[in-house]
Amino acid sequence: MDFIDLACQQKRIIEKLETNIKNVLNHGKYIMGPEVGKLEAALAGYVGVKHAISCASGTDALLMALMAYDIGPGDAVFTTPFTFIATAEVITLLGATPVFVDIDPNTFNIDHQKLEQAVAAAKRPDAGRPALTPKAVIPVDLFGLMADYDAIDAIARKHNLLIIEDAAQSFGAEYKGKKACFFGGISCTSFFPAKPLGCYGDGGMCFTSDDRVAEILKSIRVHGQGGNKYDNVRIGINGRLDTLQAAILLAKFDIFPEEIALRQKVADNYSKLLSPIQSIKAPEIPEGCKSAWAQYSVLAMNGKDRAVLLEKLKQSNIPTAVYYPKPLHLQEAFSSLGYKKGDFPTSEDIAMRIFSLPMHPYLELIDQEKIKGIINTSVA
Ligand SMILES: *Cc1c(COP(=O)(O)O)cnc(C)c1O
Repeated sequence: MDFIDLACQQKRIIEKLETNIKNVLNHGKYIMGPEVGKLEAALAGYVGVKHAISCASGTDALLMALMAYDIGPGDAVFTTPFTFIATAEVITLLGATPVFVDIDPNTFNIDHQKLEQAVAAAKRPDAGRPALTPKAVIPVDLFGLMADYDAIDAIARKHNLLIIEDAAQSFGAEYKGKKACFFGGISCTSFFPAKPLGCYGDGGMCFTSDDRVAEILKSIRVHGQGGNKYDNVRIGINGRLDTLQAAILLAKFDIFPEEIALRQKVADNYSKLLSPIQSIKAPEIPEGCKSAWAQYSVLAMNGKDRAVLLEKLKQSNIPTAVYYPKPLHLQEAFSSLGYKKGDFPTSEDIAMRIFSLPMHPYLELIDQEKIKGIINTSVA
């Protein structure tokens, strides 16, 4: 059994993949070839926004978004400590200050009530740190479930915060009828192979409906380019998506909506099998939301039980993963921010209890039943 089975998907689309790759080899436009624009148009249409700007990774998408909004020293950018390092890393890279906000224990996404408190706190000077200017919030759509954008939007309007959606895990998800990557002033996704829409290397994309912001993102992507290649109007990066990766993504995108539906079916099977089990808590999806099911993550009652469950699953050759064992505020990389254990109790509690089960569109019911059997008999 695979944690994520990419071979199964490849078998389905191998002819299209080979044709698309061969086309690139034939035309030879490896940088910004026609497939790049074609992919951008297709994904912008799918999401329902005006512009899609592809780039070299999900991390670059977040970095470019912050750069486009001129975020830097003295600015506070709010996000959760229960995410992949990239979400907060890019804030620090630009000299701005990540301000962490604890998560909701049911969705694992940013707790909007605590966001409002954090905005007020950031404006006050704190021990060792001057007052910050609240600039932006990066809600993370963790495991494929979108954050509560209505609530976040209301707070953002009130406090003049920009919204940058970290949709690295949620491409294909929905919130009240709108697709992931719709809600941010800029939204960012990743095409890392294990994400819901993954390529065969690194890749990412920014989405926006703001014409001016789209132009800035395109410029940042190519060294701050102005009217031509050797006219540089701002500091940028080399952040382009490879034509070959765009060609691969176009082949994969053909079956993507179907794969999202298959993921939902797998998740429904898990829910039916696992919800009656007392020793774990299966995920609950809020009304009006559809997860992209990047991960199917369950909670053990405590850290000791999780260790037992992970060991039992391992003995039966069931692959598992823990996202994330250590919240970002406790990472050495962020030690200069001055956080300590106990600052974000929900994130710390969830980090001790959470684990993810195999999840991909082609997971068989018989494998899910096997997983259920092992979990059912592992802890009292
Ligand atoms: C994967 C991921 C990223 C970074 O994407 P890359 O393409 O790996 O750079 C950012 N944020 C979250 C939440 C992610 O899961």
